[in-house]
Amino acid sequence: MKVFTSMTQWQTFRQGIKEHPLGFVPTMGALHQGHLSLVEASRETDLITIASIFVNPRQFDDKRDFDAYPSDYQSDLEMLEAAGVHFVLMPETGQIYADDYRFKVTESEFSHKFCGAHRPGHFDGVLTVVMRLLNLVRPDNAYFGEKDYQQLKLISDMVAAFFVPVNIVACQTIREEDGLAMSSRNRRLDKKSRQLAPELYAAIRNSATADEATEILLEKGFDVDYVEDIADRRLAAVRMGDTRLIDNVKI
Ligand code: AMP
Repeated sequence: MKVFTSMTQWQTFRQGIKEHPLGFVPTMGALHQGHLSLVEASRETDLITIASIFVNPRQFDDKRDFDAYPSDYQSDLEMLEAAGVHFVLMPETGQIYADDYRFKVTESEFSHKFCGAHRPGHFDGVLTVVMRLLNLVRPDNAYFGEKDYQQLKLISDMVAAFFVPVNIVACQTIREEDGLAMSSRNRRLDKKSRQLAPELYAAIRNSATADEATEILLEKGFDVDYVEDIADRRLAAVRMGDTRLIDNVKI
């Protein structure tokens, strides 16, 4: 496995890659089995798998959340190597945003709903970094988790809107044994919150309506950002202290 911290070097190297298909798994590190399932999906399909680790400051609406975002690069690289990743991109912020974010991708409808309503600018930051990373990697397939369902939808719509020649592959949510969706942020939960956290999944899965799920979550002591049904999905976000958890289920 080769790790690139210089995107200039990566771009030169990328020009020499002739093998296809090429798969790409963008991450913000603090990796867990959910991320690795995306790598596994790529390893099954692609001849070459590229992962990136970049904690994108532009998608954090709350600086405290950015500062507290977990990172463990050594363990991340060990996991990616063991999973068979060929190349890892670990850019510095200045390499991704040499323009200081003068240019960005903005979506004006869906990105303002659900998580976007509670995190101003978040999805502009996500779409912008994904667009930049896709242009750097130029993969045939790019893998994203259904865990971040609104993000997945927005990215799919963005690549269609801009005719980006990439196939977006949706990967199902990987959960802990007690049902909690795996997330880097779970590391930040204290013992009591960690015990309560699986109730988020239970509530949205077992309730007849979004309102019923909201009531259950409030009763259990969650701070509820939203629970809402769109098409065949129920999406939810809650806060437990400083930690925000999201989840969704098919309904
Ligand atoms: P993140 O590092 O949180 O930005 O996530 C990187 C990618 O991994 C995104 O496409 C996420 O949707 C995906 N991902 C994160 N957690 C999970 C999970 N529990 N199951 C499946 N995919 C996930």
